[in-house]
Formats: sequence, C-alpha cells, structure tokens
Amino acid sequence: MANRSIFYTAALVNILWIFQTTAFAQIPGLDARAVDLKIAIRIFDYANLAQNSREEMITEAGRIFLKAGIETSWVNCRNQQQNEQPVPACESPLGPTDLLLRILPGDIPQSAKLPETALGFAVVKREGGSMASVYLRRIEAIAQGGLATKGQLLGHAAAHEVGHLLLGTLEHSPSGIMKADWRGKTLDSIAKRDMLFNHQQAEYMQHQVQERQRRSAGLILETASTTP
Ligand SMILES: [Zn+2]
Repeated sequence: MANRSIFYTAALVNILWIFQTTAFAQIPGLDARAVDLKIAIRIFDYANLAQNSREEMITEAGRIFLKAGIETSWVNCRNQQQNEQPVPACESPLGPTDLLLRILPGDIPQSAKLPETALGFAVVKREGGSMASVYLRRIEAIAQGGLATKGQLLGHAAAHEVGHLLLGTLEHSPSGIMKADWRGKTLDSIAKRDMLFNHQQAEYMQHQVQERQRRSAGLILETASTTP
C-alpha cells in the first residue's frame, strides 16, 4: 500500500479514545469460538466529523460486526481539531488484524470510475485487504432525505467497506449490508437496523479473522525468537 506512510505521518492526535464493542451477539448457528474474534480499526478522519456522528458510526458498524460474530475496537488516529500528540496505537506497524478506515470529505473522484451509488471503496486482494475509505459528501446527500442519520449511514458504509476487506472480494450481494445500491427501501432497513451480513458472509469473515489472528500470533513468535 503506497500511501501507508502518509497515514502514519498524519497520525498526530492528542485525544486517544478506543471504543471497543463489549457486548456480544451471535447470529444463529455460528460457533461459540467466534467470541474471541477481534479486529482493530484505525480511523483517519479527514472530514472532521462531529463527535456524535463518529460515535454513531462506530456504534452502528460495531453492532453489525458483532452480529456477524466479530468484535471490533476503534482508535481515532486523526482529527484536525485535536492534532497534537502522537497516538501509539496508530504509530505501530499494521498487523494482520489491524485495518485502516479513512473518512474523506468531498465526493469520489471521477477518475476512480466507481458507480454513482458507491459510498466508498476498499483496496482488496484475494487474501483480503487493510484499507477502506468512505466519502462524506454522498453520505450527507442521502442523509438529507431524513430516512437515516449521517452517523447511521457512515456506520453502514464503513461496515460494508470493511466487509470487502474481510471477505477478500469486491463482489456484492442482492440483499443485506453487502448490497451495492442503497437507494429506496434499503434506507428503511438501515433505520430498522436489519442491514446485516448474511450467514455465509459472517462465517467466511470469521474464518478470515481467525486466519489473520494466526498470522498475528506467528509474527509475535517470530519477533520473540529473533530478539537477542
Ligand atoms: Zn461495495
């Protein structure tokens, strides 16, 4: 990821808050081992979100992942209004279970050639990815319709893009959180909080997170064995 150094350089923040989803809810039929599945998401907010919108985004996205059997923790790594001290959790190299979420102002550039219904994008290889982005202007335009708040929409868009990272694909599904087009009745589903990952997606993501955790543990062991 060519832009990684930019994010670390930008990670001068004086407020460290880590929001962790603490409750756990499983979707029916999923294995109980899922309770230990965790990912950490570093937020780089280039759009200066109001605190309530950011918190609502985290609450919504965290709830959606909990329903899929995956816990999330969130660290605010950049906010222009609060930029003084570096945050250690944002400075360390990304591990397999660490993901980046960028909140970008403005609209998706035309050069990105994304459909007009896209709210963001994810950089994904078959084995997964680590960087997702959402664009605020399109989300604000939908929020003006009054069916869902900006924070709710941001949370769902974040869950969708992070979903691409964990699913290792840019494909979409005809319903649920991985649906491509969120116009019309989809907004009702967002307001009712029933836009979720389906069972198959949840199970696949659980396996992928488990695999990422194995790789993390391997990296820690490797470091320990090479330390004099
Ligand atoms: Zn998508």
